[in-house]
Amino acid sequence: MSDYDVQLMAQKQLREAAQYLDLDEGLIEVLARPKRSLVVNFPVLMDSGEVEVFEGYRVQHNQSRGPTKGGIRFHPDVDLGETTALSMWMTWKCAVVNIPYGGAKGGVKCNVKELSQRELEKLTRRFATEIGIVIGDHADIPAPDIGTNAKVMGWIMDTYSMQAGYTVPGVVTGKPIELGGSEGRVEATGRGVIVCAQEACHNANLNFEGSEIVVQGFGNVGSVAARLAEQQGAKVIAISDTSGAIYNKNGLPIQELYDKYSGVEGGIQNYKDCDKISNEELLALKCDILIPAAIQAQITDKNADAVQAKIVVEGANGPTTLEADKILHDKGILVVPDILANAGGVVCSYFEWVQDLQNFFWEEDQVNDRLSRVMKNAYGPVAHTMREHNTDMRTAAMIIGVKRVAEATVMRGIFP
Ligand code: GLU
Repeated sequence: MSDYDVQLMAQKQLREAAQYLDLDEGLIEVLARPKRSLVVNFPVLMDSGEVEVFEGYRVQHNQSRGPTKGGIRFHPDVDLGETTALSMWMTWKCAVVNIPYGGAKGGVKCNVKELSQRELEKLTRRFATEIGIVIGDHADIPAPDIGTNAKVMGWIMDTYSMQAGYTVPGVVTGKPIELGGSEGRVEATGRGVIVCAQEACHNANLNFEGSEIVVQGFGNVGSVAARLAEQQGAKVIAISDTSGAIYNKNGLPIQELYDKYSGVEGGIQNYKDCDKISNEELLALKCDILIPAAIQAQITDKNADAVQAKIVVEGANGPTTLEADKILHDKGILVVPDILANAGGVVCSYFEWVQDLQNFFWEEDQVNDRLSRVMKNAYGPVAHTMREHNTDMRTAAMIIGVKRVAEATVMRGIFP
């Protein structure tokens, strides 16, 4: 993982919120630890004929409010600590948007760019088998995250179903539409980010239309957020992908960059009508809205002071460190926290799961309308709590999320 200890960060965030809630120490201890952590080591026969052993994880943080839910990440930096932090954030995220799930996360330490499709499929199916003892459509429901996508989810669903002896579409979300996926799921996280950006502008008396936006990361979250922002009249002045960052103060043609440059050799760096800038320069650009949508620990105590955005909307999970949070808050920058801002993905996952369990599928407009409604209904109370307690927005979202989880945990009582 990155040098930054995200598990400690998640635990500190919990303690910060707990101060406002008068929770007893025993309950905080329960919430600070995952309910169940599974570590698996498994072999994959590579195309070369050699056997490679991979390490994977599935961590279920809390299931007081329902089955656990959260993505599966395939990335070289994945480890148990990171997966645990991400599972905690999933718990609060589901509670903030009030969907009936607890949090979980999974991952395999691997570099997908170095795997052939055949190796990727074998790795996925073997990993799905290894964690098959803890996942299930009423127990724990994985979804895509960094390095995984609908195709990978399809393989997990098939592997699980083969062992069950019948098709279990509800065991994962983010599947291809043909296999019981939901309309709108691929775009859902980016769509939720933009709903939050618009709500934040509204509260700050800023016009979203015509606003200047910087997006870090051009994957599933960043690319959708940037395209929707462009469609809705905002000016996206800078974006980045793994090839680097590009900037044009007059705005970049996002749809064209997505269609022609992203995902091909050299990436967005092949685009000419722009300045090539570094990641650090991108984060420090003067703009209205900065959307970090890459990975965790990007805005830190080293660079937070340079941030010039008026609003930061966290598309990624954990992009702002604790120290940076404080610096941004002191500078008067509004940070819409990940557990609210990027919750659109899991909200749509919830819709997909409901559709799968009912075998009754909704139209795209219906999905998008419901998604916007859930996001707005979640945003309002968080903004209200922020004003009420005179705190930053992350603490406000945590107060709401932790309160809901704590209440359910206490109501259910301690077994036996
Ligand atoms: N991986 C996404 C997240 O971090 C989605 C999880 C889900 O849909 O279960 O929110």
